[in-house]
Amino acid sequence: MVVLELHGSGGRITADITDEQAKLSDLGVGKNFLAPIGKLEEQKMQKYFCKKCEAEFDGSPKIQIEESPNEPVADDLILIERGQYTCHKCDSIIGEYRVFQKKE
Ligand SMILES: [Zn+2]
Repeated sequence: MVVLELHGSGGRITADITDEQAKLSDLGVGKNFLAPIGKLEEQKMQKYFCKKCEAEFDGSPKIQIEESPNEPVADDLILIERGQYTCHKCDSIIGEYRVFQKKE
């Protein structure tokens, strides 16, 4: 497990993630990103920074499930959930997530 700052469109989240998630989040530009790693559990997020509030908050942001489309995106891959992490104070989006499942 590693603790990393993960960047989203509207801020960043400090979270405990696995080495595998850390690899996924590293797009090779010197920062780590939220979007490629799927959904984080609330208890894994220690704090977040909201760009709109320009402030850091303890604990996890809110998780808003946008939809559960069960939509095939490739032959063996299904998009099972899409949603956002949002700020408790101003409701702006900190970052987004996608959850995929591989077909057997
Ligand atoms: Zn905010």
